[in-house]
Amino acid sequence: MKKDHVIRFLAILTIICLSVVNNVFSSADTVFYPLFPPDSQVKNIVILIGDGMGLAQVAATRIKTYGANGRLNIEKMPVTGLINTHSANKLVTCSAAAGTALATGYKTNNEIISMNPDGKKLYTILEACRDKGMATGLVVTCAITNATPAVFAAHVKSRNDEVTIASQLLENKVNVLLGGGKKFFIPKSEDESEREDDLDLIAKAKNSGYSFVQTKEQLMTATGNYILGLFQLEALTTNLPEPSLAEMTQKAIELLNRNNNGFFLMVEGSQIDWACHDNDEEEAIRQTQLFDEAVKTVLEFALKDEHTLVVVTADHECGGMGINDGSLDGKDLDIEWTTKKHSGIPVIIYTFGPQAERFIGLHDNTEVPRIFAKLLDIKSFPMISE
Ligand SMILES: [Zn+2]
Repeated sequence: MKKDHVIRFLAILTIICLSVVNNVFSSADTVFYPLFPPDSQVKNIVILIGDGMGLAQVAATRIKTYGANGRLNIEKMPVTGLINTHSANKLVTCSAAAGTALATGYKTNNEIISMNPDGKKLYTILEACRDKGMATGLVVTCAITNATPAVFAAHVKSRNDEVTIASQLLENKVNVLLGGGKKFFIPKSEDESEREDDLDLIAKAKNSGYSFVQTKEQLMTATGNYILGLFQLEALTTNLPEPSLAEMTQKAIELLNRNNNGFFLMVEGSQIDWACHDNDEEEAIRQTQLFDEAVKTVLEFALKDEHTLVVVTADHECGGMGINDGSLDGKDLDIEWTTKKHSGIPVIIYTFGPQAERFIGLHDNTEVPRIFAKLLDIKSFPMISE
């Protein structure tokens, strides 16, 4: 009897020790999100685009934040693949052409927003989801009229035509629009306006059913089917008192998820790219951390929801970032850059949720929305309209 007690005591002690060791050295911090059964149905899609976010940007952020053995939320997604990013006319794409591929399933020339090089409009996956009765949203840290959000709900020959893009985003009835760029929405009579007409797009939006918010407090209490949130004249500062990308994303999901037909949401970590153009690794890592927090928000929702496909990718790499050496704890990190422009290196696609495994392997960027359309049983996509 006494011997049994000792054995039982040792067994319990061993279990306690193992669980402590497990918590210290692995724990939930490096555990993957689970795979779903193969017949799982997709109801909602969230695509998160880290603008300019290549593999080195992700790895450097992991090493700096958690050490080499840690894991970002992005890196806990169970399925990965690769995406080729070249545009119709250039090996190295811009955000307009890369975004157009991700939004419409067609390649176009650099600088063009969801039109083909002949000037014909390309139907976007967001428009296709809206036409199916799903709710739609765009959440960014740049101006909402910038290339990446624009490609999902606007069609213009030049990404610089942000005044027209502002009108089209509203005409397209995107349910949730959150970001910066107020200067493109206010009439020229106002000092900070970038418009050359007297059109007051904010008044117009309100008349057509949008709630307009400009602060985090207003956003958090916003309700209704249409929300326009413009938190800066141009890009966001990505600092307080603005809502963070994660907070905007959480609110967008809360609003969109009330639609019984599901929703399509695009979230962009817009400023990773800008830091990489500056070859500023500290800021590139900070922006990737902010993006990763938004990814976490979506993953936690999707884990509970069970019908949300989450896709994280980039439109292109920027800076040709390399990691030369450093310490495992991330205290020293020797980053080197090969360019101040975008590069032609393929980017990673990370996926979680029903049908996540459809993205395994090497794909062209045009295949991403085509897979979305198949999963949502949208037969009218891709489509060249007009
Ligand atoms: Zn760029």
